[in-house]
Amino acid sequence: MQISNEQLKLVNDRIRALIASDSFYGKKLAEAGITEVHTPEDFLKLPFSEKNDLREAYPLGLMTAPEEEIVRIHSSSGTTGTPVIIPYTRKDVDDWATMFARCYEVAGITNRDRIQITPGYGLWTAGIGFQNGCEKLGAMAVPMGPGNTEKQLQMMQDLGSTVLCSTSSYALLLTEEIEKRGIKDKIKLRKGVIGSERWSDKMRQRISEGLGIELYDIYGLTEIYGPGIGINCEHNTGMHIWDDFLYLEIIDPKTGEPVPDGEFGEIVITTLVKEGAPLIRYRTHDLSRIIPGECPCGRSYPRIDVIQGRTDDMMKIKGVNVFPKQIEEVLAAFPEISSEYQIRISHLDGKDTMRIYVETNGHVNFDDLSHRIAEKVKSRIGFTPIVKVVEIGVLPRSMKKTARVIDERFA
Ligand code: ZN
Repeated sequence: MQISNEQLKLVNDRIRALIASDSFYGKKLAEAGITEVHTPEDFLKLPFSEKNDLREAYPLGLMTAPEEEIVRIHSSSGTTGTPVIIPYTRKDVDDWATMFARCYEVAGITNRDRIQITPGYGLWTAGIGFQNGCEKLGAMAVPMGPGNTEKQLQMMQDLGSTVLCSTSSYALLLTEEIEKRGIKDKIKLRKGVIGSERWSDKMRQRISEGLGIELYDIYGLTEIYGPGIGINCEHNTGMHIWDDFLYLEIIDPKTGEPVPDGEFGEIVITTLVKEGAPLIRYRTHDLSRIIPGECPCGRSYPRIDVIQGRTDDMMKIKGVNVFPKQIEEVLAAFPEISSEYQIRISHLDGKDTMRIYVETNGHVNFDDLSHRIAEKVKSRIGFTPIVKVVEIGVLPRSMKKTARVIDERFA
């Protein structure tokens, strides 16, 4: 999807602002002698930006607007070392809320809805993003934050929440708790807006049927506003991305070259109007693809597929590139197992091994099931894993994102 002339104009405005502010990226652009871009080809010559650069700019090196215009910062959770700080102007906060309100609207949510928000509030962008969008839309926010399932379910019943915002893992946990307590008829939920964690169709179906709700995938990351930069519509044919605020590319993560529409690669995002911390060609490490053609809903916003994982999730096992999504698709063909699974890769006696843990109830023969799954995986990826079958409920569920692939070779 080529960058348009209007988008190029906005990119040039951002390049000028970066250079004028002498911010971290302003200096880099000035050093590289870049002052503007005229054509889509010029644009592709702009250097990428990376999370590691953003860490180098800690604490406020990314600040591109004057201090008096910065109204807030957010920080992305650095699992290793220095976090990343993103400054926002009032306009950035407002633009983000506009994008988020648009997400809710596309999901058919209105100012008559009551939105229970379970992602965390604080330095990271999750809870507050859901909240600002909700208020912009004029709906009623029920700002719960994460955890305390007892209280979540109480408020959900007492207030008659109609929309649940959460991670897919927490939505699954709530589904199971609601069933366990037999309170489904007291729950008024009609829709779920789920953060862009990679999740299987099977899990989606489990939550959707368990709660009797429609589910929407929302996309975003702290470095680029936060959640709310795109969502799937009622046709569920990928997430529409708000290209009046952002330009999105898909590149080959190894070569950095753009891939044709329809092919999977790494998402790279350029912010078109962000003031506090504009980013040019930011590598997200999220894997997806542009969905070619028009959406049946008629909206012209481009679409990307559900996030397939992270570029660093790609596993090389016995010389073969394996992708968690491939295993997930194989598992989806077995109705007798739950939507939870775990993959563990280890190196034993000079050989890589893959163990896959799956859950089932006590009514099936564990050995037989394990063989059948192992065979199917072999036919898909070329080597035989060890499949361990456990009782339903044994694998970890979490409030946040559940780690499903554990590589013990590098532990
Ligand atoms: Zn659509």
